[in-house]
Amino acid sequence: MSDKTNIYGDYRICCKCGMKADVVENGNDLCAECYFKHHTNTTIKEYERKNKDLDQERFRINYKKEKK
Ligand SMILES: [Zn+2]
Repeated sequence: MSDKTNIYGDYRICCKCGMKADVVENGNDLCAECYFKHHTNTTIKEYERKNKDLDQERFRINYKKEKK
């Protein structure tokens, strides 16, 4: 471990948007938003919206199952 600087010691800046970086990946500082976007190709807001839809869908499916 040569690179010991991390979120606990250093104030890091997201390399994409300039916000405070929360994670470091492959030497790139990323904020939570950009990290999320990088991995899911969607924003947190879009993801939450989709998740809400999924939850509602799941609820519908469970409801159907329980009803029998
Ligand atoms: Zn960012």
